Parts: sequence; structure tokens; C-alpha cells
Amino acid sequence: MKIVVTAGPTREYLDPVRFLSNPSTGKMGFQVAAAAARRGHDVLLIAGPVQLETPKGVKRINVVSAREMLDAALDSLVLFSDLSREQKTVFISTAAVADWRPAECASSKLKKHQMSGTLKLVRNPDILKTIAKTPHLRKLPSLRLVGFAAETDDVLSEAARKCREKGLSFIVANDVSEAGSGFGTDTNRVTFVFPDGETRPLPQMSKRRVAGAIIREVENL
Ligand code: C5P
Repeated sequence: MKIVVTAGPTREYLDPVRFLSNPSTGKMGFQVAAAAARRGHDVLLIAGPVQLETPKGVKRINVVSAREMLDAALDSLVLFSDLSREQKTVFISTAAVADWRPAECASSKLKKHQMSGTLKLVRNPDILKTIAKTPHLRKLPSLRLVGFAAETDDVLSEAARKCREKGLSFIVANDVSEAGSGFGTDTNRVTFVFPDGETRPLPQMSKRRVAGAIIREVENL
């Protein structure tokens, strides 16, 4: 299979030295890419700014903003699907994409007195939703989408809603407020949530083992 994985945070700059972002370290996504490569798949990792080495056997594209991540995802999926219409292509979106970006990015560092105390923001595109609506990709029977849902409340019902809303085969839900789960940790406790509402909880385990479980599930899609 061809597997495209996004990982890490995005950064949304308001001037050359200031940005909006989140604490994602990319560990989960890098483990997903590594697990897919170990199982012999052709893997492309689209990484936001993180301090991690590229896993063995994985191709990597570095991006900074959500819009760059979207462009890299669309380009690679269109290319993969043109190359092989029969082979399954799976897009696994582990990245913690910033939902908003500053409406403007100044070309030189803003002075304190130039900043008003109010920052105007605009919505970033939703990468998964955009892929699901792209005409060239939408009709491909061989394309599958898998998402992640990091929630603090109503974890499973929110995940099921997102799974349906974003046209996903399944979503990996985790409660980021729980110890040993979520941003920056080496372990995770996740539940696979399917569009029909079926849920499959996994015990707490290393991100490496969670990644292996995700890839095995993806192989069955
Ligand atoms: O809506 P929410 O951000 O909670 O959904 C999480 C899922 O959507 C993740 O798989 C994430 O990578 C993806 N996402 C995206 N584009 C965004 C925001 C989130 O593809 N702008």
C-alpha cells in the first residue's frame, strides 16, 4: 500500500519571529510512519516542525504551515493515485493542524508599539475535509482516510461525529487530559471509532505498539 502520514504541529507566523502553534511533538505520527515502513509499505511522511529523525525507509517532506501541509498532501495523493489506481492509498492524518492563522504575516519583526493587543485570525483549511471533497481524489475507490481526535470531553461521541463529518474509514480517539496519553508522552491509550458508531478500545501501550495496531487496522480496510 501507499501510505501518506502527516505528523507534528503546524506553525502559523504573524511575523518572522512569532507564531501560533501547539505542543505536538510528532511522536505518534513518526511511529505510524515507522510501523508502516516496517510492514513493507511505501510511506511518505509530511512533517511539521519537530525534532525527530526520519524513520528508516520513510520518505519525508518538511512543511511549516497548515496550508503548506495541505498542498503537500494533495500533491502527493494526486501523484500516488495517478501512478496506481488499483493499489490502495491511505492518508493518515496524525498532525495537530492549527485551526486558525493570523490574517496577516508581517515581512519584518513587528515592534511592540505596532501591535494593538488584538490579533485578527482567519480559519485554516481542514486538510481531511479538503481531500475528501477534491474531485480528482473523491471518486477514487482506492483512497482511504484515517484521522485522529485529541479531545478532553465527550471523547468518543466527538470522535464518531468527526469520523462521519470528515468521511473517514476510522478515527483514533484519545483523551489528552489523561496521564500517559496525548501530547509528548511515549505512551497512549486510544480507541478506534468507526463511522457506524462501533468502538474498539485498546489498552494503554507505547506509541510504537499503538502505531502497529493502527497499521494492522489500515491493512484490513
Ligand atoms: O477537528 P479536529 O481538529 O479535532 O480533527 C482532528 C483530525 O482532523 C486529525 O486527524 C487532524 O490531523 C485533522 N485536521 C485536519 N485539518 C485541520 C485540522 C485537523 O486535517 N485543519
